[in-house]
Amino acid sequence: MERIHNFSAGPGILPEEVLLEVQQDLLSYKGKGLSIMEMSHRSKLYDGVFNETVETMKRVLKVGDDYAVIFLGGGAHTQFLMTAMNLIPDGKVGNYILTGEWAEKAYKEAKKIGKKTHVSATSEDKNYSYLPKKFDVSADAAFLHYTSNNTIFGTEFLDDNIFPTNVPLICDMSSDFLSHPIDTKKYSLIYAGAQKNIGPAGATAVIINKEFFANNCVAGLPTMLDYKTHIDAGSMYNTPPTFSVYVIGLVLKWIEKQGLETVQKNNIEKAKLIYNVIDNSDFYRGTTAFEDRSLMNITFRLPSEELEKKFVEEAKLLKIDGIAGHRKVGGCRASTYNASPKKSCEVLAEFMMDFERVNK
Ligand code: PMP
Repeated sequence: MERIHNFSAGPGILPEEVLLEVQQDLLSYKGKGLSIMEMSHRSKLYDGVFNETVETMKRVLKVGDDYAVIFLGGGAHTQFLMTAMNLIPDGKVGNYILTGEWAEKAYKEAKKIGKKTHVSATSEDKNYSYLPKKFDVSADAAFLHYTSNNTIFGTEFLDDNIFPTNVPLICDMSSDFLSHPIDTKKYSLIYAGAQKNIGPAGATAVIINKEFFANNCVAGLPTMLDYKTHIDAGSMYNTPPTFSVYVIGLVLKWIEKQGLETVQKNNIEKAKLIYNVIDNSDFYRGTTAFEDRSLMNITFRLPSEELEKKFVEEAKLLKIDGIAGHRKVGGCRASTYNASPKKSCEVLAEFMMDFERVNK
């Protein structure tokens, strides 16, 4: 069965060997006569799958029991709300770095529920085409929230040493989670929708420093929106997204087998193949500041919208798919997540050069 060159921004491509393992176990998980989708989340068998996923995540992130790893439904959007609701107590201020649509949404959600907020930095002045390098943290800051990779605009904070260290750091890592090593201990809370780098849609990973949470959380929140509910119940207060978490476990094993350093090295090489074409061309134009460009979502424009349409259509003939830009910004975008094979990036780079030759 032939697979396409999948550059979808999300849900994105998953490792083929993981999909094959899922296929193998779909009807009868490890010969037990039922699918993962059909078993109780409280069964011993599923408990093993879930715990193994949590433990693998901790090993990959190099954290111990001082962090809780939970999996929640509701997508990263629900985390925009939960981070603000749980972690901005009265008198404290949520600080936000605005670098695109998702960062804006997190900020607006905090305002919507009446929390005090402060914009620490924004790149809205140039339509989010670059990343701010200086951050203004307010007095009584509850946390500093940022988005590590801006999926729509194609920028990525590749060096987290630039953030102030005197304020708890919260990060939406949805679109570059586990694409490179991170020093997890710098973060008080990390959240990431699974559907780009670590699994199918339906589960959002939340990694919380337990001490930070205990000392800063707001009490008495609605049950399902209170992190405490899910931390205390080990994500089993209600039915978790069982199938997604199972696949995440397999993807984490796939990542662990290679090591995050290798994953990062491959991601750099893959992105380079496509950026090289853009850099050596006056036909393609990158949309972001050179030093801020993302290794996950490569955004570029062609000389006209007509050519962009033609480019996307002709690419499909070579089974290159998912390269239209986000509907809000247009243009083109190639998402080269962890599971995207180098071969696909080579095919796209080759196609870009051919298309330029013919259409220039
Ligand atoms: N944050 C980032 C960085 C994203 O890329 C996305 C989705 N593309 C979201 C948040 C929203 O995620 P969800 O659809 O899971 O709510």
